[in-house]
Parts: sequence; C-alpha cells; structure tokens
Amino acid sequence: MKPQHAKHRRLAGILACCAALATAVYVNGAAPSSATVFENSTRRASITPPVPDRVTGPAFNGDHAYAHVVNQVALGPRPVGSDAAWQAGNQIVEHLRQEGWRVETQEFIYRGIKGRNIIARSGEGPVVVLGAHYDTRPIADREFSPDKQAVPIVGANDGASGVAVLLEIARVLDVARSGRQVWLVFFDAEDRGGIDGWPYSVGASIMVERLRIDPEAVVIVDMVGDADQRIYFEEHSDRALSEEIWRTADRLGYADNIIPRVQHAVADDHLPFIRAGIPAIGMIDFDYRYWHTTEDTPDKVSPASLERVGRTLTTWLHNLPDTNEMHELATRTEATAAPR
Ligand SMILES: [Zn+2]
Repeated sequence: MKPQHAKHRRLAGILACCAALATAVYVNGAAPSSATVFENSTRRASITPPVPDRVTGPAFNGDHAYAHVVNQVALGPRPVGSDAAWQAGNQIVEHLRQEGWRVETQEFIYRGIKGRNIIARSGEGPVVVLGAHYDTRPIADREFSPDKQAVPIVGANDGASGVAVLLEIARVLDVARSGRQVWLVFFDAEDRGGIDGWPYSVGASIMVERLRIDPEAVVIVDMVGDADQRIYFEEHSDRALSEEIWRTADRLGYADNIIPRVQHAVADDHLPFIRAGIPAIGMIDFDYRYWHTTEDTPDKVSPASLERVGRTLTTWLHNLPDTNEMHELATRTEATAAPR
C-alpha cells in the first residue's frame, strides 16, 4: 500500500509521465500534416459496445503477464540505445512471432542513439493500435538521495507493465472477432525526456511521422501494474474513446480500479497521435510513489492489476461494433444531422 501523503503530493497540478507537461515534441519540428501522413480515413462512430461474454479462446491471464514483467526486469535497466533494450526488443519480437503476429521493426537514430519501434499486426479491417513503451528511464531522478539519482531504473511498472499486458494480449486476442486489423506497438525512447535535451515519446513521434494509414483508435498503456491500482481518465485523451473503455471495465466489475473521472494530464505516447488528429488515449496510473525511482521493481506490480487492464482491452476489442454497423450508424447520424 502507498501512504496517502505520496498520493496527495502527486495530485497537485498538471503532471506528466514522464514529467514534462505536454512537451512531447515532434522530432523534426512541426507535427506532420494529415494530408501527407494519411491516405484514407476510417473514423469510427462512437458506439458503446455491449459486453456479453462469449469468449471462447483463452482469457487474459495476469500471472502470464506478470512473468513478462519479471523477464524484462531480469535484463536490467533498458534505456534507449542500451544492449539490454535491444535484447528486450528481441524477446518481444520472438514472442509476437511465436503467437503468429506479423512483426516489423522501425529503426531510427536520434541524437546519435539508435532506437527501434516494434510493430506487430494481425487481422483485417480498420486499424486499432495498442501501444506501450519498452524503454526505461536512464536515471532515477525522482529519488530523494542524490547518490541514487544517477542510477538507471529497471521500470517494472514504468515500462515493463504496459509491454507485459500487450504480450499477453498477443496470446489471447481473437483478432477476427474484433473485425479489425490490430497493431501491437512497442515504442522505444519514450522515457529519456528531459535528459540531455531529449523530448519524451521520441519513438512514438517517429511512428506517427511514418504512418501511412489513419488508425480508428489508439490506446496507450503505461504504468498499469501498480498493486494499488487506480487508473483515471487522462485529460488530453479522446473522451469518447476513454468512456467506451472505462465502461467496459465497469461492466467487468473493475470500477474501483479503472475509475471514470479525470485526475491527471499526462504527456505520454498518445500525444503525438492526438496532435495528428487521431483518436488516442492514455491508460496510465499516475498515483505511483515509486515512479522514476530505483524502487520501481516487480514487487510493486500485481498480476491482478495487469489482468484487469488486459481483460478490459480484450473484452473491448472482442465487442467492437462491426464495421458495417458503424457505416450504417454514421449514415443515419449524417441523415439526422442534415439541414432541413
Ligand atoms: Zn517514465
């Protein structure tokens, strides 16, 4: 459990994950224009899916996800450009391929450091992106002791938890049932922001620059594994999409942990997508006292927390309205909205 004072300290004001408020900066300057980035538009109508549970395949398992947290942390700190980050990336690619996903990597060099995003695809239809960063912060700059502030963190929650949820989703998701092409994206270089002049979300910004499709929805998961889990709406996030996902959590009985109320504004990997006009949200539990400290270790993460997020997302995906229904709804909405 975390003491209340730690929570209250974090409640004040506008915060950012990785700290700098809304300072995610486009790597080459201005945000890409939608004209150059996107070739088609498949904006979804906002429909709340019902949550009947007729999952026939394996269900998301929190213990399996937790094992992915432990495996990543066993590699040590994984800052962008490190051997451990490259190894973590290789393990992610291997798992995704074993689970039958088509995997591509997107390499880049930023300020002389080599990074790599990993993109796994499956299914057909409008694209839904689930993303998480797999790099970890190179320094524990939230430590009180100056000796510890220069130490890199292992990022059990800040880094490994989001990746773990996506890797377990790769195993259990019935992609065909979603009626979508699902992309699982693992971003590098999220968490070097504010160090040596780096911005946050370098990998995500590069992915948005190179996008050639227009995703229907983007959901970023980050710091979702805290045993004392409280995930609120994030202020910059697309509200309709947040409501849809939080409603799914509520129907699964998770309303005490995935709470439909704004608590923080957090700069994270969803921001580059939002700035490009794509409906995107961050699922991030920002009330985490071990954030950017050497104590962000697996004992602070719980399988049950990972499972709540994983089951919410798989249930949401399994129950998305089919694209024909969406088209009909959009047509009806246009007809209703037409001037008379
Ligand atoms: Zn961070």
